[in-house]
Amino acid sequence: MQFKEIVGQSVIANRLTEIIDSGRISHAQLFLGDTASGALALAIAYAQYLNCEHRVHYDQLSPEGLRADACGTCPSCKKYQQLSHSDLHLYFPTTTTSSVKGNPSSADFQSEFREFLNEKQQQGTLDDWYDFVGVENKQGLIRERDADDLVRTLGLKAYEAAFKVVVIWMAEKMNTTMANKILKNLEEPAANTLIMLVAENSDRMLSTIISRTQLVRVPHAASPSALWAGEILVRKENAEQFGQMYVSWMRQLFKLNMASLSAWVDTMAAMGREQQKQFLLYAQESLRECFLCHNAGLPLQLDFGDAKFNSSFPAMITERNVEGLNQAFNDTLYAIERNAYAKIAFMELSFSISRLLKNR
Ligand SMILES: [Zn+2]
Repeated sequence: MQFKEIVGQSVIANRLTEIIDSGRISHAQLFLGDTASGALALAIAYAQYLNCEHRVHYDQLSPEGLRADACGTCPSCKKYQQLSHSDLHLYFPTTTTSSVKGNPSSADFQSEFREFLNEKQQQGTLDDWYDFVGVENKQGLIRERDADDLVRTLGLKAYEAAFKVVVIWMAEKMNTTMANKILKNLEEPAANTLIMLVAENSDRMLSTIISRTQLVRVPHAASPSALWAGEILVRKENAEQFGQMYVSWMRQLFKLNMASLSAWVDTMAAMGREQQKQFLLYAQESLRECFLCHNAGLPLQLDFGDAKFNSSFPAMITERNVEGLNQAFNDTLYAIERNAYAKIAFMELSFSISRLLKNR
């Protein structure tokens, strides 16, 4: 699975490839989100990118909005594309079926599961999976034989890849034996092994497991974050130029002190139109960054140059106000491009943002 095959998740994909490129790879990750939104597909794409021998970095974002992707053609990618890589190990809920009469485990269903993933582009649900193997009204689990198999797998050296990858789909379905085996490994990680848990509901998982993984929240592909997929990332030079101005503006909007807000608007209005547009784009992108990082539980890549603001501001941008904020910036950019009176445009934008931040 390449990231470009996953629709509407380029923002998360970009964060993931940034993490890998920076070498800050956590040995255990929890991808939390609906399979239908691509949580499993993202986990597999992550593993493929990690092991790709010729990662592709785009100068501009790709048509899908990606900064980078696996090549899709190197020997490792080819095997990952077919889910046949010998260092990719898949665990998932199983149950007895007409052909597997007792004590089922993932090992009994490896070829069916790969077929299922291919058919559903790795976005089939648990019910789809049960349908696929022809069971109804049964509750699958990941259990003892899977745990034994996992211990064997983790004890082996990677055959050919730099990283051995274990993917556990629907990790909330692990029984106690399996959960304890995983926990033990999270405490004493094997070298060059990546464990990726994919779950829809973390409430049913041991908190000790969750706390030992790096959490990647996968939003619904149709949520506001997807609206921004494909936009440019916040540029560093703009952060240096505009960071302070942005922080002081946002603080004024919380207090809504008219005297200092007017002074701020005057300063903005005195800048050239191109500068005004650059600032608006920077501010808009910053909001998007804050929203995505806060919602995905990922570290903020952006530095506003103010530690207190860095840590507290992202939580102000929520599902409730994020679309309104984005729209307010689009309207203002449109107005500025058409030579609207800058003081009025910035004052109106300030009032809109102030209202939306309070209404989060
Ligand atoms: Zn490759």
